[in-house]
Amino acid sequence: MEFVFVCPNTHKAFSSDTFKIIDNNGIITDLAGNKILDAKVALKNPCPYCGERHLYHATDLSCPFLGKSAKDE
Ligand SMILES: [Zn+2]
Repeated sequence: MEFVFVCPNTHKAFSSDTFKIIDNNGIITDLAGNKILDAKVALKNPCPYCGERHLYHATDLSCPFLGKSAKDE
């Protein structure tokens, strides 16, 4: 399963299925009553644009686990 990530340095999007989920606290409810996945996602491979291994919070990603996409811009 691939996630779409955005490089925070170049702001370019790429997809990857080589990541791992860390600090997974499961589904929590935030202050607004939304269910969110409280976890961090770490790339296993370096970013194709800048070479860093970025770390993302699950809420920063389009999250297929919850069956909805991130906020539209
Ligand atoms: Zn990057």
